[in-house]
Amino acid sequence: MKIYRGYKFRMYPTKEQEKIINKTIGSTRFVYNYFLNKKISNAYNGIKSIPKLLEENTFLKEVDSCALRNSVFNLEDAYKRYYKCLGGYPKFKKKDFNNSYKTNNIKSSYKGKSYNSINLDLNKKVIKLPKLKEVPIRGYRNKFDFNGLIKSAVISKEADKYYVSVLVEEDITLPKFIPNNIVGIDLGIKNFLITSHNEKVKNTIKINEKRLAGLQKGLSRCKLGSKNRYKMKLKIQKLFMKIKNARKFLIYTITNKIIKENDIIAVETLNVQQMKQTHTIAKCLNENPIGEIIRVLKYKAIWNNKKVIEIDRYYPSSQICSVCNYQNKEVKNLNVRSWECPQCGRVHDRDVNAAINIMWEGLTTYMKTINKELMTP
Ligand SMILES: [Zn+2]
Repeated sequence: MKIYRGYKFRMYPTKEQEKIINKTIGSTRFVYNYFLNKKISNAYNGIKSIPKLLEENTFLKEVDSCALRNSVFNLEDAYKRYYKCLGGYPKFKKKDFNNSYKTNNIKSSYKGKSYNSINLDLNKKVIKLPKLKEVPIRGYRNKFDFNGLIKSAVISKEADKYYVSVLVEEDITLPKFIPNNIVGIDLGIKNFLITSHNEKVKNTIKINEKRLAGLQKGLSRCKLGSKNRYKMKLKIQKLFMKIKNARKFLIYTITNKIIKENDIIAVETLNVQQMKQTHTIAKCLNENPIGEIIRVLKYKAIWNNKKVIEIDRYYPSSQICSVCNYQNKEVKNLNVRSWECPQCGRVHDRDVNAAINIMWEGLTTYMKTINKELMTP
């Protein structure tokens, strides 16, 4: 089976290479805003007029032309999301600390020899990118070879660090699916994750609110456009980056363990929009950790031939007694952390009980699909 896997490396560009990266980021932003201003939502029309744009703005000729074309595609995607009511009207891109550009691996041949525009050498730990030549990288210490083809690379600047994410098309052989273990997972805010095996993962990643407030106060005191203001902004950016990376690592570790130990994973589909409103870090980072866990679980399940079953979010998982099936409507309130079943007398931890119900519901759904498969000739 063919899959796409991303590998993210830290890059160590020279001052000269840094300049080129920043110039490329600026140029892709320029192209994006130029076509947005002209309301060109069709990438084909945009790309057709790039040569003319290059003649008028010669500085664009100095950067990776593929990155410029991808910027036009990005704009088309933003318009598509808008037309499908999945996002707001595309906004003009502002100069920021977090910025990136994408370039594709283009094959060419010259005098019978074939060349790639992106070359990754995991032994020498260098990546060759258009206009940049070789840049030292770090990451994936024990990996020396890719079992696949490089499709594209995203070069990004986060705070004052540089990264490259390489997308590789890999051909993998899936292990046989044997449904031995099943787990139900309840996702929440206080406890990140609770399993039907009575495991709880607390959300230990919290932003240092005091430090953030202090930095923001300091920022407001700095003169607009001053060097100190830039430094202060960088510090705030670094604080967010730290949280983002810690959370990414936590999600990576949890999902790996779940996928390794189980074959069928039942989760509740959540109203992500609703959760977003109540979560302060999510607000700051404009991301949702719960949605992210489900997303990561889903693709890791595909790579390992495991099954993720999503349960209808209106299924009252926290109200039903996992022992006798009695529905206790009094425990709807989120503040009730534990309760005793009026019918069978079992005392439940709210979240663990919910996770067990999610597991049963997942198993029912799985059996239904199996029966359907058996019924169809
Ligand atoms: Zn009961």
